[in-house]
Amino acid sequence: MNNITKLKTELDKINSTATLEQPLAKYTTWRIGGPAEIFFQANTIDELSRAVEKANEFQIPYTILGWGSNVLISDKGIRGLVIKNASKEIEIKGKSETNLPTANEIEARLNAIDTEQYYNFDDLDFDESHFPTIELTVASGVYLPYLINVTIDQGITGLQWFAGIPGTVGGAVYNNIHGGTRFFSEVVQSVYVLTEKGEFKTLQKSELDFDYDYSIFHKNKDVILSVNLILREGDKERARNTSIAWATRKKLQPANSAGCCFQNIEKPVQSDLKLESNSWGYIIDKVLGLKGKQIGNAKISDKHAAFIETQPGASSNDVLGLFELIYEESKNKLGITPKTEIFFLGFEQSEVQKFINSSSQ
Ligand SMILES: Cc1cc2nc3c(=O)[nH]c(=O)nc-3n(C[C@H](O)[C@H](O)[C@H](O)COP(=O)(O)OP(=O)(O)OC[C@H]3O[C@@H](n4cnc5c(N)ncnc54)[C@H](O)[C@@H]3O)c2cc1C
Repeated sequence: MNNITKLKTELDKINSTATLEQPLAKYTTWRIGGPAEIFFQANTIDELSRAVEKANEFQIPYTILGWGSNVLISDKGIRGLVIKNASKEIEIKGKSETNLPTANEIEARLNAIDTEQYYNFDDLDFDESHFPTIELTVASGVYLPYLINVTIDQGITGLQWFAGIPGTVGGAVYNNIHGGTRFFSEVVQSVYVLTEKGEFKTLQKSELDFDYDYSIFHKNKDVILSVNLILREGDKERARNTSIAWATRKKLQPANSAGCCFQNIEKPVQSDLKLESNSWGYIIDKVLGLKGKQIGNAKISDKHAAFIETQPGASSNDVLGLFELIYEESKNKLGITPKTEIFFLGFEQSEVQKFINSSSQ
């Protein structure tokens, strides 16, 4: 028996979801990507940690997949174990004395970066800091839109800014998602992880290096198991109305995408190049004239040019082709290249390295 077969035997003892050569396209919002050498769906925090421990025992590399809304998976697929994180536990722990500091430095950086000009958030933003705080522990696999509804139903607010973002709580921490001008790190108190060394550990927010589209998890292979959130016993109806309004505005964005693919350029670069905006949506549309351009079954969205949308039959090679086109046109016309804000899974470093680095940040 090879190690993959041994691992499957062990995973079968946890639950019956382990399969070999499982196509991964249906686990991503782009609906593309080849197979996982071995696939497992973890339905609880315990199943998630046990699967990772078994992979380590048999020295099989592992990859965690949340909702798959921020990843490009290679057409060749992913070697080793892919764990679809569907852990679901939500525990409302009760009142808390903790008052989390807001992410002032990150906010400053976000404001220096022109956010979506397409979506106005100002009228939806409001201060909740005077409301009492309440602590929750949430499994990393919980689907964020579901958590937003469940908490608001119970009079718990603070997540309404993230309405319309299709992802898990683990994915939200991993990339410190932002809704309007709010960052997910503003509601995170601590994170419970299984480290790459196999230790279970609670990491406080101050240890997580949160930044714009960044957390410490970009630098290690720790698995986020659960997250302690500090929310508010706030104005339920206002929070609900905000979440509905924000999700409705975000519906303009194509769902068969991975969100915005490129990080905005820094202001000094914008000013040197005398560009009206520093968003790649603007650059790709107005400067490079590539909006609507199609390769295979992938297309630079007509709705928002920093989004790439796919049609049935698309491959990750089609998306890479569009990245290449944008990269080359931008290098030739502007002398800068974009930095992607999605995660590449299953690729050789050499295939994608140039899209990860950037000359404009
Ligand atoms: C239509 C649309 C709109 C979007 N709007 C926004 C927006 O407004 N703001 C924003 O910030 N983003 C947005 N996104 C991007 C995306 O939805 C978020 O980044 C989301 O939080 C990703 O979560 P996920 O569970 O899908 O992560 P995945 O895409 O599954 O994974 C992303 C990365 O996180 C890692 N990861 C996931 N879970 C764990 C875990 N438990 N432990 C360790 N590593 C983990 C994965 O290995 C991978 O490297 C949008 C995407 C779409 C398709």
